[in-house]
Amino acid sequence: MSPAFLPGAMIGILGSGQLGQMLALEARRMGYGIAVFSPDADTPCGRIADREIVAPYSDLDAVRAFAASVDVVTYEFENVPSETVAAIESVGVSVRPGANVLHVAQNRLREKAFFVSLGIATPPFAPVRTAGSIAEAVGVTGLPAVLKTVGSGYDGKGQRTVRTGDEAIVAFAELGGVECVLEGFVRFAWEGSVVAARGVSGDFAHYGLVRNEHALSILDVTTAPAPDASPALAQEAIDATRRIMDALDVVGVLCVEFFVTPEGELLANEMAPRPHNSGHWTQNGAITNQFEQQLRAVCGLPLGDTAMTQPGAAIANLLGDLWDNGEPDFAAMLRDFPGAKLHLYGKREARPGRKMGHIVAIAPTPEAAREHALAARARLTRQ
Ligand code: AMP
Repeated sequence: MSPAFLPGAMIGILGSGQLGQMLALEARRMGYGIAVFSPDADTPCGRIADREIVAPYSDLDAVRAFAASVDVVTYEFENVPSETVAAIESVGVSVRPGANVLHVAQNRLREKAFFVSLGIATPPFAPVRTAGSIAEAVGVTGLPAVLKTVGSGYDGKGQRTVRTGDEAIVAFAELGGVECVLEGFVRFAWEGSVVAARGVSGDFAHYGLVRNEHALSILDVTTAPAPDASPALAQEAIDATRRIMDALDVVGVLCVEFFVTPEGELLANEMAPRPHNSGHWTQNGAITNQFEQQLRAVCGLPLGDTAMTQPGAAIANLLGDLWDNGEPDFAAMLRDFPGAKLHLYGKREARPGRKMGHIVAIAPTPEAAREHALAARARLTRQ
């Protein structure tokens, strides 16, 4: 087994948004140093880190210099170019989770084929590489369907729901004519996800199956544990997540998102090899949160206890839209909801749909936690 990186070691993070920031805060609490590398300046993570390197991921000299100055590298988004990973590894520094995990997670077609290879069900899907292949793809998926670019989509970006083949042709052009996947439109009963961690020796810890509610394809509310899940369904989702992580030898945190059909069937939608928005409730609702867990895993330390601090937990996301009429009323929310926890990412500019922060609530039941988080968020709107 490789030696552990103990407190005092330097963690390198690729990407400088809120997920990097929250990892950096945990790392600081535990006595680690942080160096962050991203093309952006003045970032949520950069303000917490010891060092912020601002350079494109394609600047391999800068990448190698960064790697040589840290003990281990992780990332907060899955679209890290493979050349960047190779440059880090060329100086003898590990990237965790590894290049093989990124290779699968970066491409929706590879990802779905990988799920299927493990016997994990997905919505029907087919590749779309040219407008001419759309009719054949529709034959596989049926209509309506969802056309998605295979790479670099997030929060509903890079995808279109289509009702006819002609709409799919228009959508393909609108998405830039790049390689896409067409998926059958799932009339799901609800959406869920599992966030889990896997250590260097294959040890595994999970946060159960949670329920996710989206608004305009952006995560809005997560409730933990998923109120509508039977123990058997939750176990099936956890087992699928573990099979995925074992098969890829993941060292780190990974999230798998699922659709649950009205018949109670689980369909894997996508995975992210990093902490996930649907795991933010662990910051106040679990003994060890997902960011500390990421730190422990990538440092080769034992994983922490994932037990919940109360039987229910929830998050409500705070999008830039809340800033439409000026600064939200934080004072009122903090006064009226003393048990709710406010997390803000310190982003300079609030834009519609931009994730600015979230509220965590914990309660004796999952639904009570959800109600509490929603009520606290509503209090942010000025009366
Ligand atoms: P994704 O980027 O794949 O996670 O998609 C974002 C959101 O769009 C999902 O969480 C769903 O709410 C919705 N969505 C994506 N794919 C499908 C699908 N095949 N059928 C129905 N809804 C979908």
